[in-house]
Amino acid sequence: MKYDLIIIGGGPGGYNAAALAAKSGLKTALFEKNKLGGVCLNEGCIPTKALLYSANMLDSMRQSKKYGITIDGDLAADYKRINARKNKIVRKLVLGVNQKLQAAGVEVIEAEAMLTGSDGDHIHVVADGKEYAARDVLLCTGSETSIPPIEGLADSGYWTSREALDAKELPESIVVIGGGVIGMEFVSVYTSLGVKVTVVEMTPKILGRMDTEISTALMENYEKRGVTFLLNTKVISASTDGVTVQTADGETKEIKAERILLSAGRRAVTKNLGIEELGIALQRNAIVTDEYMQTSHPHIYAVGDVTGRSMLAHSAIRMGEVAVHHILGRKDDVMRYDAIPGVVYTHPEIASVGVSEDEMIERGTAYRVLKLPMTFSGRFVVENEGETGIFKVIVDGEDRIIGGQMLGNPASELIIMIGMAITERLTLEDLRKHIFPHPTAAEILHEVIYE
Ligand SMILES: Cc1cc2nc3c(=O)[nH]c(=O)nc-3n(C[C@H](O)[C@H](O)[C@H](O)COP(=O)(O)OP(=O)(O)OC[C@H]3O[C@@H](n4cnc5c(N)ncnc54)[C@H](O)[C@@H]3O)c2cc1C
Repeated sequence: MKYDLIIIGGGPGGYNAAALAAKSGLKTALFEKNKLGGVCLNEGCIPTKALLYSANMLDSMRQSKKYGITIDGDLAADYKRINARKNKIVRKLVLGVNQKLQAAGVEVIEAEAMLTGSDGDHIHVVADGKEYAARDVLLCTGSETSIPPIEGLADSGYWTSREALDAKELPESIVVIGGGVIGMEFVSVYTSLGVKVTVVEMTPKILGRMDTEISTALMENYEKRGVTFLLNTKVISASTDGVTVQTADGETKEIKAERILLSAGRRAVTKNLGIEELGIALQRNAIVTDEYMQTSHPHIYAVGDVTGRSMLAHSAIRMGEVAVHHILGRKDDVMRYDAIPGVVYTHPEIASVGVSEDEMIERGTAYRVLKLPMTFSGRFVVENEGETGIFKVIVDGEDRIIGGQMLGNPASELIIMIGMAITERLTLEDLRKHIFPHPTAAEILHEVIYE
């Protein structure tokens, strides 16, 4: 069977690219070995947000008195029902992906696909013993949890995000290995639902390259809510009773917990894909791509987590769009990595885009930080009793917006304004002319210009 485009992997990178390609007139086949929607819909972005929403609702109800509302009787979380609602949302959205692909005219093939070679005109693929060929191939095989070599881990009954999302019941206590985005979102759910949480993080701070002031403020917020953070600390062994850790000064400690959640990073899925035979270049196990998402083979493209760059659903979607445009002959659409928003859906949310103050200090070039508490927005004050929040914009020596970070709700919805300003290379003067609706949390951006 011959196609214009074969896509391997039906996550957000693959299914959105498939729909765009088919709608643009390319005869397109999409191979998915597991579930359409990939990690994002089935065991990532969406199910975690469903759990977080229920957990946040409980938090808000606990704080209802601050808003003049008294709730009589005890509040209780029914995890079975929270989990069932999450599953219902996932099923609904996966169905939506199926419908989108059908409507676009994509041929969906439920099978594991592998590249077998190229004859100069076509790339050959095999799946379930059948042969397929296409002029171009797009690899979107995603990523999986990295499993570090920790003694005893394999027999400790540990969870990755997958098992944590599948669990029908919560443990009484959990030790989270890795204080990155995925780890912190689970910390947020568990804390709200009454699980005793300890986070073990190897580096001096949580949330990787997130602005230090913001990540520290978030950590302090969760410490007040009872979470223990062990920074500069390494897990050296694990068992069904918890973990043994080693601090920076060499001291070892035992952390007892009913369950371990491993969230120490993800790695690209490149095994059993047949890429070695086609000489596709890899770097640290991820597929190397150029600004058009082309690999070292001119008719094989790769997008999303498998490229190892910006492991986020929205990055995968944008990369897929760039790849399809290039296949269609457009040379003017290139992938940029300087304005990709990153959100941590904790309570409160934090978000970041472009460069941070820490990075500018490392670079040593001219910059300015414009900063205000979120309380400079009337709407924020109305909706976030007792919270302060942080809103930061970074500009270069010409007052062009190059970054922004924020702590406070709804950071996930506000961050795109700064992302757009970076993409469009806007200056503070350009932004000043925009009229922001009042009262909105977004007005904080207009306020900060005058700092
Ligand atoms: C717990 C968690 C929470 C997350 N939350 C967010 C969030 O809030 N926001 C965000 O932007 N990102 C989030 N992410 C990251 C996001 O899920 C990924 O960035 C995104 O799914 C990457 O999309 P993708 O298309 O590259 O790959 P994936 O979604 O990983 O999909 C790859 C697909 O390829 C299939 N596949 C692999 N090999 C083959 C083969 N040989 N043949 C056929 N099919 C194959 C797999 O079965 C899979 O379905 C989260 C991730 C996790 C784990």
